[in-house]
Amino acid sequence: MEHALRRLRELDKEIRLLEHIGSLLGWDQETYMPSAGIDERSQQHAVIQGLVHERKTADEIGGLLAQLGAREDRPAGSPDLSGLDAAFVRAVFREYNRNTKLPSSLVKKLARETSLAQRAWGQARQESDFSIFAPKLSEIVKIVLEISERLGYDGHPYDPLLDEYEPLMKTEKVRQVFRDLRRQLVPLLERVKAAEPVDDASLYGKFPQEAQREFGLFVLEKMGYEFNRGRMDKTVHPFTTTLGRDDVRITARYDEGFFSSGFFSIIHEGGHGLYELGFGKELEGGILAQACSLGFHESQSRLWENLIGRSLPFWTYFYPLLQDRFPDALADTGLKKFYRAINKVQPSHIRVEADELTYNLHIILRFELELKLICGELPVDELPDAWRQESRELLGITPEKDSEGVLQDIHWSMGAIGYFPTYCLGNLYSAQIMNTLRSEISDLDALLSNGSISVVLKWLRKNVHAWGARCTPSELCKKISGNELNASYFMKYLEAKYRDLYDI
Ligand code: ZN
Repeated sequence: MEHALRRLRELDKEIRLLEHIGSLLGWDQETYMPSAGIDERSQQHAVIQGLVHERKTADEIGGLLAQLGAREDRPAGSPDLSGLDAAFVRAVFREYNRNTKLPSSLVKKLARETSLAQRAWGQARQESDFSIFAPKLSEIVKIVLEISERLGYDGHPYDPLLDEYEPLMKTEKVRQVFRDLRRQLVPLLERVKAAEPVDDASLYGKFPQEAQREFGLFVLEKMGYEFNRGRMDKTVHPFTTTLGRDDVRITARYDEGFFSSGFFSIIHEGGHGLYELGFGKELEGGILAQACSLGFHESQSRLWENLIGRSLPFWTYFYPLLQDRFPDALADTGLKKFYRAINKVQPSHIRVEADELTYNLHIILRFELELKLICGELPVDELPDAWRQESRELLGITPEKDSEGVLQDIHWSMGAIGYFPTYCLGNLYSAQIMNTLRSEISDLDALLSNGSISVVLKWLRKNVHAWGARCTPSELCKKISGNELNASYFMKYLEAKYRDLYDI
């Protein structure tokens, strides 16, 4: 058994190395690659992806897993295995199982169709004409349903799709939590809408790019980001990528006419990056040295971006420094006014620009439509109308153009159905995590107010990051908060914050 484990670790390590090489190609493509490099770069990606798939489905891995006693009803292998070894076998078995259940013809078909669909989506969005994208989306829904059938499920056909991003999470559970959230969010939004609007004009002054970058780096360093283990470069759509255990890079974009766009995406990606840099040493950069789910990944970025980065104690320390850097834009705006401005609530059509409160309604909207698509209750052609109707009910606004509605996000064209809920789960986890953090660091606000924000990282390292993917998201959520995922922590947080902000 020792020998089988050792060999499985070797094979796993090589897969991770190949994946990191793929990340390097992707990072370069999004930052510095000259545009004409795209043709061969696509071929390079395909070669690496092919190798990774081959390695993940190798017969040798299947043989080793069998030797270790892993099977469908016992994914963690023989009862003799425990702790880290059992978690390792469970993770490899899960990956092997998912990959071998899908025939390579289906995987290739998905790759081909999504590449065509992304092009069609780009054109459809530009022309705001859903009919260009509709036939491609129908094809993708068909393929995704076949994937779901192949992977198998007991409850809902959406389960295996969700499971890819949020291991072992069930559709019914998400539905129940989102229903609860919606029931409380919509009336809160109504109260905010009825209140005196917030003036956020100060955020639309002049914010030179270089000064934004320097300020971002300064805050990242205060958070605990080590720049001998990462870097920050410019891109169009910000992301975080892991090139190695000690090489996690983030990217940023800047809008010189609007402060929030650049800064909050830097701190958001910083949260993702710190998670990737914090996996326990004993996980040895293998399959367990990764986030336990996408929802948890998003909990880390949103915790920094919103629960810390949009809080008054945080800005009590940082705002005078920000004013020094941007005197033209901010000299006449006081701390309280700035704090209200960065937390302004305003229902809008575009998800990625949404505030902390309405953001989740955007996700609930997509989740409900995805479920209907997967169950065959909603034909693709009727999607734009269904979107408008949901938007009216949830946000109280109706997009005039499909480019601001059903066509705004790239995910469906990439075949990523089951992905959207994780954005909202991230917000819920973040509040649940923060509740425990606050109870253990009782003087948190005082520490934040004097700039000691790295206490947050220290706590997250120990309680969240170090675990990597040793636990499932539901296990980790219970371990941290003593409770299973639910909407009450997040709602309590929002209620308190906006009651004060909007005087409601
Ligand atoms: Zn994120």
